[in-house]
Amino acid sequence: MKVILLDFNIPDIDIKKEELEKHVFFTFLVDGISRACSHQLVRHRPASYSQQSQRYVSMKKFPYVKPESLEDKYVETEMGRFSFDEVMSFLGSVYESFVETGVPKEDARFVLPNACSTRIVFTMSGRELIHFLRLRTCNRAQWEIREMAVKMLKLLREKLPEIFEKVGPVCYMTGVCPEGEKTCGRQREVVSFFENL
Ligand SMILES: Cc1cc2nc3c(=O)[nH]c(=O)nc-3n(C[C@H](O)[C@H](O)[C@H](O)COP(=O)(O)OP(=O)(O)OC[C@H]3O[C@@H](n4cnc5c(N)ncnc54)[C@H](O)[C@@H]3O)c2cc1C
Repeated sequence: MKVILLDFNIPDIDIKKEELEKHVFFTFLVDGISRACSHQLVRHRPASYSQQSQRYVSMKKFPYVKPESLEDKYVETEMGRFSFDEVMSFLGSVYESFVETGVPKEDARFVLPNACSTRIVFTMSGRELIHFLRLRTCNRAQWEIREMAVKMLKLLREKLPEIFEKVGPVCYMTGVCPEGEKTCGRQREVVSFFENL
């Protein structure tokens, strides 16, 4: 996964920090995340997104994201024993065979999995970005979007420490975990991680 902070603007206006957050915009490019991850990202509504299309590009040897938990796993089926990589390769050939028989790429892609990797550019206001980071740097967030959010936060802290030093999951920002019985129970460890990011 590659995360790049493409651009941001800090307007030169004399207003309170909380007001300024609404007028600052950040543009990121993220490459090599799964479609499962990008689907979660685009649920954040006050933002603009441009995502690589699957309609026109050939996806025969599609790049994909492989979760660590599937690293050495095999699945036993009536057709044999398959690793995750073999399943991906099989789906790539099914896709290609459909395209060769004249099925449009925009339809053949229906056999492609959530693991397919993608590239996406997005722009968020400072306020939305902080909201996104609060939710997605939390241990409750799914690992891939969390990894992406942590990389984004790291870049932001390098460029604008005065705004982003205090940003992280809710427990880090407020001292209280709002997750109730779903808490990860590792608040001290999490706070220390974000203090030293
Ligand atoms: C740990 C975790 C688990 C999740 N699990 C699921 C799941 O199982 N199923 C699922 O469907 N989703 C799930 N989500 C996604 C979640 O439901 C939200 O869609 C997503 O986090 C976007 O956040 P948001 O709605 O707070 O705000 P955003 O879309 O980021 O918007 C930010 C804020 O802007 C305001 N806003 C935005 N749009 C509007 C609007 N139209 N009207 C009024 N106010 C608006 C709201 O105040 C909102 O809080 C999960 C998210 C997390 C972090």
